[in-house]
Amino acid sequence: MFDYIIVGAGFAGSVIAERIANVLNRKVLIIEKRNHIGGNCYDYKDENNIIIHKYGPHLFHTDYKEVWNYLSNFTEWEYYHHRVLAFVDGKKIPIPFNLNSIYEIFPKKLAERLEDKLLSKYTYNSKVSVLEFLKEEDQDLKFLANFIYDKIFKNYTAKQWGLKPEDIDPQVTARVPIYINRDNRYFTDKYQGVPKEGYTKIFERILNNKNIKIMLNTNFNELINIDLENKKIFFYGQEFKGKLIFTGMIDELFDFKYGYLPYRSLDLKFEVIEKEYFQEAPVVNYPNNYDFTRITEFKHIHPVKSDKTTILKEYPKAYEPNKDIPYYPVFTEENQELYNRYKEEAESFKNLILIGRLAEYRYYDMDNVIKRALEIFEEKVR
Ligand code: UDP
Repeated sequence: MFDYIIVGAGFAGSVIAERIANVLNRKVLIIEKRNHIGGNCYDYKDENNIIIHKYGPHLFHTDYKEVWNYLSNFTEWEYYHHRVLAFVDGKKIPIPFNLNSIYEIFPKKLAERLEDKLLSKYTYNSKVSVLEFLKEEDQDLKFLANFIYDKIFKNYTAKQWGLKPEDIDPQVTARVPIYINRDNRYFTDKYQGVPKEGYTKIFERILNNKNIKIMLNTNFNELINIDLENKKIFFYGQEFKGKLIFTGMIDELFDFKYGYLPYRSLDLKFEVIEKEYFQEAPVVNYPNNYDFTRITEFKHIHPVKSDKTTILKEYPKAYEPNKDIPYYPVFTEENQELYNRYKEEAESFKNLILIGRLAEYRYYDMDNVIKRALEIFEEKVR
């Protein structure tokens, strides 16, 4: 009845389903354990008409024209460039740390000296990761590097990952480099914006196709069995000869046979505040204070008239299997090795395709996973 089965209705699964349905005109079943589509991008309007991102803030940005064009088939965009401030030494300064941040936090004379030093060493508009910057030998630059490391990265990363910045894959902290310019925007990608009616509407449109059937509230293992010995996939007790595109947790697919892959999870605490606005930016990071990492105020992302406002505090925590939501894979060599064992196991099945944050154990942004889905469709699905 189905040529393809997809587990998970986030971007990875939904984009591939749309391609199968529209380009190939074949039938596809999506199995989704939650009671809604959209994965962690799911959003909804709360009682004050404010669009809330149920699983934490999602801001779309990409340099890939093909990804922007693809998504633009399913939404119009509101003009939006994301901004983040960090609460440091009693002040809220622009993040990524840039030349403006220097002037906001240091006395003018010192700021000028640091700027001069930076500009004699780095080209204007370049970016440098904090771990690279720490290697500076010049005394002033070393002072600045240590300051940024201590006040912006060290404690935030300890909260977020339970690790020191140097003990996690350098790519993680390099997501937020130091900018040698005066650009206060969080992302510098060519294409940025907020989907006019939110992300859930994008998913509704992507999945609105007679060839796509979705089963919500269904864990894949209620319908699918994996025969490890004979490398076969069973669907409702019968061998499934089509392709299974799996976007869930790879360790769960193989019944955790090599052990649990570690993740970081979050407690998300939403609060409705009886004022028009709570803070001066969409997101304020608190590296050194409180147990939460950041506060998001959704009204800044989707402006709406209301005398109340909804904020979100994120409290990171270790992930407990079968209980918490696995938000972030934890990038250490050891975990990567464990992942590779599962990956090898998966590769011995000829009709199994893995994609997404959980199945590939990768820190995908939305645009990267959409790009990957479009590629995988061409390379492995069609
Ligand atoms: N980070 C930090 N301080 C900040 C912002 C980011 O230490 O003020 C580090 C931290 O390790 C974080 C990583 O940079 O996990 C990536 O940050 P990003 O904002 O990209 O995280 P996401 O929005 O994906 O949670």
